[in-house]
Amino acid sequence: MTATATPPMVEAIGVHKYYGSNLVVKGIDLSVTQGEVMCLLGPSGSGKSTFLRCINHLEKINAGTIRVAGELVGYRQHNDRLHELRDAEIATRRSEIGMVFQQFNLFPHMTVLQNLIEAPVLVRREKAAEARARARTLLERVGLADKADAYPRSLSGGQQQRVAIARALNMRPKLMLFDEPTSALDPELVGEVLDVMRDLAADGMTMIVVTHEIAFAREVADTVTFMDDGVVVESGTPAEVLGNPRHPRTQSFLAKVL
Ligand code: ADP
Ligand code: MG
Repeated sequence: MTATATPPMVEAIGVHKYYGSNLVVKGIDLSVTQGEVMCLLGPSGSGKSTFLRCINHLEKINAGTIRVAGELVGYRQHNDRLHELRDAEIATRRSEIGMVFQQFNLFPHMTVLQNLIEAPVLVRREKAAEARARARTLLERVGLADKADAYPRSLSGGQQQRVAIARALNMRPKLMLFDEPTSALDPELVGEVLDVMRDLAADGMTMIVVTHEIAFAREVADTVTFMDDGVVVESGTPAEVLGNPRHPRTQSFLAKVL
């Protein structure tokens, strides 16, 4: 490592998260480099969504640290002291992280194009014309150029999820978090969403993808991380974790989903 090495895009050290007295994230350490695609696997309830929400300032962690692009989540350093971020600062930091959920969460009363330009204009104070031009390019990229003026309810689930991805990308995020983006879709619509994600990965986007799509993980992930009961059980290349899992918990999980 040289002094000018860029920091990891995400670095978690000893992250703990309680809900009330219930400890659900129990000391997660992981690191995601720039341009890396990490697929996060694990049984329901293992803390995957909670961990993503912690990265994206949606939950406060109780111990440990998370850094995104070198910046401590939740804090700002000033005169050698840490200060908790104010709401406006959190909004700015969050605007640099794209998140796509299982439920598409599009604004139902806005057209597809309006969905894409809302946040860049309101949060980033961008000129509408610029945000709109980029939105049209992104809609083309996700194969929905002809749906710019449609309302979400007229689209299929797969189309809505592609709009949700384009909407996140229109904020020009440095990191994309996906939380089971295809779990709510009819099986025949899963492929078109995975295709968009594959394209994004090939384009160099840093991504953390919680998914049960093992074939996608095998093909697209640089790193596969298996979580169970709030901890990282093992992490490695797809060939290592999916092809030759070392831990019995990983083996029994894969036996169920493969
Ligand atoms: P996963 O995404 O791996 O299925 P979650 O992060 O959703 O796991 O949940 C981890 C644990 O935290 C589960 O036991 C779940 O019931 C609990 N949990 C998740 N969200 C909340 C919440 N907002 N309040 C209280 N408990 C929660
Ligand atoms: Mg979840």
